[in-house]
Amino acid sequence: MRFTSKTLTCSYCGTMFIFDPEEQRSFVMRGYINNPRRCPRCRLGRKADQGGGFGNYANFSTLRMMYPATCAECGIDTEVPFEPIDGRSVYCRRCRNSVRSASSR
Ligand SMILES: [Zn+2]
Ligand SMILES: [Zn+2]
Repeated sequence: MRFTSKTLTCSYCGTMFIFDPEEQRSFVMRGYINNPRRCPRCRLGRKADQGGGFGNYANFSTLRMMYPATCAECGIDTEVPFEPIDGRSVYCRRCRNSVRSASSR
């Protein structure tokens, strides 16, 4: 089976990309019959979305600075994503939710 370079258009970002013989061979080896619909960059991006999504979220939450605080409602120790300011009430997550739902009513 002979492969020749094809110029394809990415259905995702619209960029023209070369589907070269080497890639075509690896595509066929993996059982793909059709041409790829996404350019290599979009395919990589999609792979990262699926595989690394959870890891990214974990990184985000650990990178985010949390400050220790005491809940003004129930008095338990909690953490808030902002620096507590004197005179401003800080609530734990549970109380924050109930305060929010009470005020929205
Ligand atoms: Zn693309
Ligand atoms: Zn509380």
